[in-house]
Amino acid sequence: MLLQTNSLDAGYGRFRALFGIDIEVAAGECIAIIGANGAGKSTLMRSISGVLPNAPGMILHNGEPIGALSAAAILKRGIAMVPEGRKLFPSLSVEENLLIGGQKRRGSGAWSLQTIYDLFPILREKRALPGTSLSGGQQQMVAIGRALMSNPELLLCDEISLGLAPVVIRDIYAALPRIRETGAAVIVVEQDITQALRVADRVYCLMEGRVTLSGTPDTLTRDAIHDAYFGGH
Ligand code: ATP
Repeated sequence: MLLQTNSLDAGYGRFRALFGIDIEVAAGECIAIIGANGAGKSTLMRSISGVLPNAPGMILHNGEPIGALSAAAILKRGIAMVPEGRKLFPSLSVEENLLIGGQKRRGSGAWSLQTIYDLFPILREKRALPGTSLSGGQQQMVAIGRALMSNPELLLCDEISLGLAPVVIRDIYAALPRIRETGAAVIVVEQDITQALRVADRVYCLMEGRVTLSGTPDTLTRDAIHDAYFGGH
């Protein structure tokens, strides 16, 4: 298994946000994590990416414990995150933002400035402009490109469609098949269930810090998802 969480608990100080999370991601797979506001989706992404520290054995990468590694060490192993809210470096140009993503680059891989500009041609046009001067959707493309510059084998995407117009969301999600063609696995965190079911091989639903449902999109009924998302009656 490329990535496995093993009864993962996480939180902030004494506040516990995740309780015994078990998820698995195989090489090349696309997983969607769905759930309401505050369900713990971002906390799960922060735990996997090493932004939040964990017990070593709670997260396994290719069978090896990585839960206690730093975010930089995890990036170096090929797990890159597109954080919620994009978090571009405000004083840097589009191209400088992308180059920063390449600093902890893995040796081999598909991605370079050129292939990212081929993926999102508008970024080539705007490469010299401050990243934060771009539209929301274009900034999201920069954030995705910045993560890809590390040549990840697992890309974590935290709410990449949040606050964007449907036509822009479509453009962003159109990049996903091309990212997967490189062999990378992807986890998308999505509040939009339809979008999640459309792109994912498998879905996990979180509610109040626990996995309440998992399966392939074709096996999950609307009612089951509704109950797992909002709680049963
Ligand atoms: P959203 O869609 O709102 O981002 P989420 O499913 O990603 O929701 P998290 O952001 O992981 O949920 O939050 C899970 C819980 O942890 C919530 O109760 C939230 O209030 C709490 N929380 C999140 N970040 C922090 C923090 N930095 N400090 C303290 N509590 C936090």
